[in-house]
Amino acid sequence: MKFDIVTIFPEFFTGIFEYGIVRRAQTEGLVTVGLHDLRNFTHDRHRTVDDRPFGGGEGMVLKPEPLAEALASLGIEPKATAEATPAAARTRVILMSAQGRPFTQAVARELSKLDRLVLICGRYEGVDERINQIYCDMELSIGDYVLSGGELAAAVVVDAAMRLIPGVLGNEASSEFESFGAADEEISTDTEGVPRSQHGAGGLLDYPHYTRPAEFAGLPTPGVLMNGDHRLIRRWRREQQLRKTLTNRPDLLAGADLTAEDRKMLDAIRAEGL
Ligand code: SAH
Repeated sequence: MKFDIVTIFPEFFTGIFEYGIVRRAQTEGLVTVGLHDLRNFTHDRHRTVDDRPFGGGEGMVLKPEPLAEALASLGIEPKATAEATPAAARTRVILMSAQGRPFTQAVARELSKLDRLVLICGRYEGVDERINQIYCDMELSIGDYVLSGGELAAAVVVDAAMRLIPGVLGNEASSEFESFGAADEEISTDTEGVPRSQHGAGGLLDYPHYTRPAEFAGLPTPGVLMNGDHRLIRRWRREQQLRKTLTNRPDLLAGADLTAEDRKMLDAIRAEGL
């Protein structure tokens, strides 16, 4: 998979993609990241990428011409005239924007199935809207706050999508079992073996993790994790998932894949608070 990032600060990404899974994915040739300096697509002495907003108001706006040229250099054509090639079907042009639709694990999963993502990083007050209109397949926001530029947001999208590409994570199944993981019928009926969780996360948050030492700062590891009873461990982890989700993200419960037993546990947890 290829990620192309259009930015006025390509150096911003030095280091950010050079660690851990993201680095390994690149050295193993599973993904490539191209950084494209927007200023290389200007033609004036000052390499101007911004201009004042029509209608007045604060700040500056990224001009459309350098962005259009940068996209053309990447073989991206206006949506209206682009040929419907297989390559185009497996490419998305994404504008990083606080006005975008929320970037979630589900979106990351969809993006990870494509061949190419082109990410446009805004700066100042944002990007001339016609770039969005003409070239972009979607606007993505990484959360309800305003960043000073799209670079951090693009790095978040690249990281989250990249680790879901088959072969990138060491353990193929592990993204199923973490927070926001999909429910999986086969997994949910598997009651043997190492208890990662009773089901695929099924839209719940992950359970808490512990490692050695068994006691730290006077706090013991929950005894159930030490006794080797896989059935009990699975049940405890599921209950912890429900507990965490109820405490931190009760909004997720409505869309979660809950069994009758889950609902009973949830009722019991809620009753504790009464
Ligand atoms: N005037 C804009 C904010 C501009 S911030 C507004 O009020 O919506 C400058 C740039 O940072 C944006 O163009 C965008 O590329 C990026 N950015 C800021 N917040 C973001 C967010 N939550 N998600 C994704 N990109 C963001």
